[in-house]
Amino acid sequence: MATPVAHSLTATVVFLLIERRMPSWREGLLWLYVAAANLSDFDFLPGLLSGDMERFHRDASHSFVFAAICGVLVYSIARWRRADKPLRTGGLAAGLVGSHVVIDWLTRDPSPPMGVPALWPITEAHYTAPWHLFLNVERHGLDSLDVWLHNLLGATLEFGVLLPLLLLAWFWGHRYRTPR
Ligand SMILES: [Zn+2]
Repeated sequence: MATPVAHSLTATVVFLLIERRMPSWREGLLWLYVAAANLSDFDFLPGLLSGDMERFHRDASHSFVFAAICGVLVYSIARWRRADKPLRTGGLAAGLVGSHVVIDWLTRDPSPPMGVPALWPITEAHYTAPWHLFLNVERHGLDSLDVWLHNLLGATLEFGVLLPLLLLAWFWGHRYRTPR
């Protein structure tokens, strides 16, 4: 898995690209985009409660089916609340949660089963990209300086890879921003 830096920057890129289409009151909702893009990694929580943080990690929550379920849920809530464009909102939620699967797929994963169960529950197979853009997060041996340096290097690499996209999205969003 990648660090929250990669997932959060991806969410910010999406936000900047579509922000111009939004009414002004929605501009303060970047944190919701970031939360949706990081949602899959909250599968640590039930594991923490059971005493084994890894127990449910990189399981069903790292699949496109989970992303689709989130999209349907958000769509249903948006319809129930009579919100504007519920289908677009649900699709956006599914896309943000699905972006997590893609980022983790692009991340080096040295511990079996390697990769993400992207097509769960159709198949339990794990998938990983043939080449990796990002380094894995090391969660063991956190009392070692080397582990912290490794994770810091991973987060810096994620920032370096996604910064150009972030800048492009920012310029795009401001250039084509619709006047209010
Ligand atoms: Zn993850």
